[in-house]
Amino acid sequence: MAKKYVEDLAIFGGNVLFPVAKSTSNLLKPDIEKFLRYSKDFFYQKQYTNNGPNVRLLEKRLAVFHETKYCVTFSSGFWAVVLAIKALALSGRTEIIMPSLTYRRMADMAAWLDLKPHFCEVDPRTLAMNAKTVARCINDNTAIILGAHPIVNCCNVKELIDVANNNKLPILFDSVESVYETTPFGKVGSFGNAECFSLHACKLFNGFGGGYLTTNDEALAAELSSTRSFGFTGMDHVGVEGGMNSKLNEMHAAMALASLDDIEEQVVRNKARYDTYKYSLETIKGLRLLKFDEDFKSGYKNIVVEILDEWPLSRDETINILNADNVLARPYYYPPLHNKKMEYDYVVSDLTQTEELAESYLNLPCGHLVSNEEIVDIVELLGFISTNALVIKEEFRKGKVI
Ligand SMILES: *Cc1c(COP(=O)(O)O)cnc(C)c1O
Repeated sequence: MAKKYVEDLAIFGGNVLFPVAKSTSNLLKPDIEKFLRYSKDFFYQKQYTNNGPNVRLLEKRLAVFHETKYCVTFSSGFWAVVLAIKALALSGRTEIIMPSLTYRRMADMAAWLDLKPHFCEVDPRTLAMNAKTVARCINDNTAIILGAHPIVNCCNVKELIDVANNNKLPILFDSVESVYETTPFGKVGSFGNAECFSLHACKLFNGFGGGYLTTNDEALAAELSSTRSFGFTGMDHVGVEGGMNSKLNEMHAAMALASLDDIEEQVVRNKARYDTYKYSLETIKGLRLLKFDEDFKSGYKNIVVEILDEWPLSRDETINILNADNVLARPYYYPPLHNKKMEYDYVVSDLTQTEELAESYLNLPCGHLVSNEEIVDIVELLGFISTNALVIKEEFRKGKVI
């Protein structure tokens, strides 16, 4: 890291630290030969979609991976979640419980189904929704609980399932960010009524795009396999109402299979990057890395840091400085969903905690496109920002930002 003076920061006109931006997306690059091999399978069999060889193999392998009976693939994680909610939500009820500090499209999923999000709080230590925060939101209108995991570690799944069972409510997990995880209660994939995952290129399993659902419920799996394919249950027979086209095609399945082949190596590389952050961030005061619970498995993909009171700049000032230098740090799930401009209805209780948390976390670059040496540079840049904070603030005050 070759910055000596505050003017060397790109935000004040200096040279950028990285000529190519370092992002917070994973963007896995699986072995192209493997991808081509899977692609040839469907290409020569001339079955490009509609339950072709790769989709069938992928569903089988994902069910084994997650230790569940069934896996159903979709064109995106979004449609997997929407169609699962549609199948599971109690009819005649209007609300879906979900955290506000979560994936930005989650409220849109509810809107497709005319359900109102009822936003719950999260635990300030883990950033996860829990039994208490969910229980406070349950009422006679509750149709379903959407258990969304934070991006580092998991929710306490047992506690959430107990709350759902005690209130006779269905529970669906959005486990996109916990795809590789194990918990004290078993492997992610078989909890609640079903769990949903994404194969988007920025997630741990890259299928260029796509999604899937895992469940042990045979009837649910059969219904959703049919819904995603126009509602067909047999040749020219539409057995399920409200069908649509949200199938995964063979090309995406080929990429997902190649990515699945590579997953163990990928996690080892992610762990090395995470460890580099962990050790080098120890020397930086005012930043707290969210630690993965190493007693359990996880993908070690996301790097999340809390800005503590002793950090001399605001979260957003810090992000602006980093971004100018091509370190594409991002605020953690910001803004929280209840603060987004929305045209549809939602229900909020007290979200003081969420409001506070939303201002103090950020994601740092991770995944395939950032090396351990570059991570050391990123942390040195953070150290440089901290050491020179007084001068930086003075420059900001003078409006020096270019
Ligand atoms: C990305 C994501 C989704 C949606 O997945 P897509 O495949 O991009 O539609 C859903 N939930 C969470 C938590 C996500 O991060």
